[in-house]
Amino acid sequence: MTYANSESGAEWFARPDNDTGKPGLSFSCTMCGNCCSGDGGYVLFTDAESEALAARLGVTVSEFLDRYTHDTIAGRSLREKKSESGYECIFLDRNSIPGKGVCGVYEDRPMQCRTWPFWRSNLAGPWSWANAAKTCPGLNSGRRYSVQEIRVLREKVDM
Ligand code: SF4
Repeated sequence: MTYANSESGAEWFARPDNDTGKPGLSFSCTMCGNCCSGDGGYVLFTDAESEALAARLGVTVSEFLDRYTHDTIAGRSLREKKSESGYECIFLDRNSIPGKGVCGVYEDRPMQCRTWPFWRSNLAGPWSWANAAKTCPGLNSGRRYSVQEIRVLREKVDM
């Protein structure tokens, strides 16, 4: 997927790209786990999401917050555990599917995870999308997301 230098701006993805001639962006997760691991980061969540995760895990919200989250400069975040790749989300499951990294709380994962990679930071321009593609092999392949779908996802979190 390539764009001419002039194809930048807030809605660059609304223009046909040079390879497919179509607007929108393609993405299908390969379950590599890269977005849930690496140098460390934040997975922020709402009160409703913490309630859903606590219920899923069979603990109280207070227990959930104590066991599975911690304070960061960005806000309360899911904890991470040390791994071969640095740090990874406490809920990343590398055992259920050999060679894959899957979310252990997938149905109740926070909106931040649900909306990857359609974050404002990745959609700032073709360069930021290309940068995200360096670590996420799911970008630029598989399902084509329409411009409207991308707009909706982009607005869901402040990332
Ligand atoms: S980095 Fe991309 S392909 Fe890998 S698990 Fe995350 S979303 Fe899926």
